Amino acid sequence: MTPVPQSVSLRGVEKRFGDTVAVAAVDLEVRPGELMVLVGPSGCGKSTLLRLVAGLEEASAGEVWIGGRCVDDVPPGDRDVAMVFQSYALYPHMTVAQNLGFGLRVRGARRAEIETRVGEVATVLGLSGLLSRRPGQLSGGQRQRVALGRAMVRDPGVFLFDEPLSNLDAGLRLRTRDEIAALHRRLGTTMIFVTHDQVEALSLGERVAVMDRGRVLQVGTPNEIYRSPGDLFVAGFVGSPAINRLTLMRDGGGHLAGGPFRLAGDWPFDDATLAVRPEDLTLNAPHADFEAAVIRVEVLGSEQRVHLDGPDDAAWVARVPPTLRVAAGEGIGVSVAWERAHLFGPDGRRAGSAPRPD
Ligand code: ATP
Repeated sequence: MTPVPQSVSLRGVEKRFGDTVAVAAVDLEVRPGELMVLVGPSGCGKSTLLRLVAGLEEASAGEVWIGGRCVDDVPPGDRDVAMVFQSYALYPHMTVAQNLGFGLRVRGARRAEIETRVGEVATVLGLSGLLSRRPGQLSGGQRQRVALGRAMVRDPGVFLFDEPLSNLDAGLRLRTRDEIAALHRRLGTTMIFVTHDQVEALSLGERVAVMDRGRVLQVGTPNEIYRSPGDLFVAGFVGSPAINRLTLMRDGGGHLAGGPFRLAGDWPFDDATLAVRPEDLTLNAPHADFEAAVIRVEVLGSEQRVHLDGPDDAAWVARVPPTLRVAAGEGIGVSVAWERAHLFGPDGRRAGSAPRPD
């Protein structure tokens, strides 16, 4: 089993369905052997992008390259890719072994070769004891592994996963996610994985591409996406609880002001958004930036989430250690880790880190 990992390159790719622009001028480079996750809200175009790579949709503009060749005129079966769908799409009347071998059989592979290959893949995926069962006699997780195995038997250069975990319950979802990560480490094959779940994206992706309304807004490692969002949408989409925000307006002195804050500087815009991660707030520290009322305390065991009334009219959340003594109804001093706070301009693009206020 030595698939050659392939690069995938999207160059100015656009897809329109009538008046709907599903994918708008996307440039994306997936490196050979990389696990890239496409994440974004429902309808942002991620499945369409994957289907364009697979050849199940034809681009309205732009080019798709796989392994250094333009595949725009190459049919899906000859693109060296294999796709795993959310719905598994297993044949119910066939055994696991027949399902696994189906792709090879239709390509005219010899029986002995099919048996060897199916045996290898079943061993890797822990399906050896289930080869004579039918899909109806398998658990959801086992079916998912058969779907995965069916993609693997062909040794594709690129695996494409379209929300393959969304039909699984929470526990199985986590285990299958680990299995896919382990499989990626073992095979070293290029994988593109689509999900709407930002936690899944950060946990699985070597790099993550965040999409919104047909566009790729940012591509980066999970840490880059989380710590250095280039865009307010990315900052808000990734992270739970969501990043805290406050609108700032330019005052007479050219400063950006909002609530208790006044940020000095020569700002090129009239309004901006200050954004601070919940873990970048400290409660009860010696030098508070503002005072807020505690609305509610969520005790999660490993941490507490403290819901605050403020700054100004904003509802902010602080993530604090479980040992901090804090109760609803009290007033509390809040300080901001300014070196990790972000400022976004009116166009939503990151304008820089927020300077410590005057
Ligand atoms: P989800 O997470 O809900 O699957 P998605 O991010 O994968 O969403 P797509 O399925 O790629 O989004 O759809 C992107 C946009 O294109 C949506 O507005 C959708 O309604 C539209 N669209 C997708 N396929 C078609 C089609 N065959 N005909 C018309 N419109 C389509």
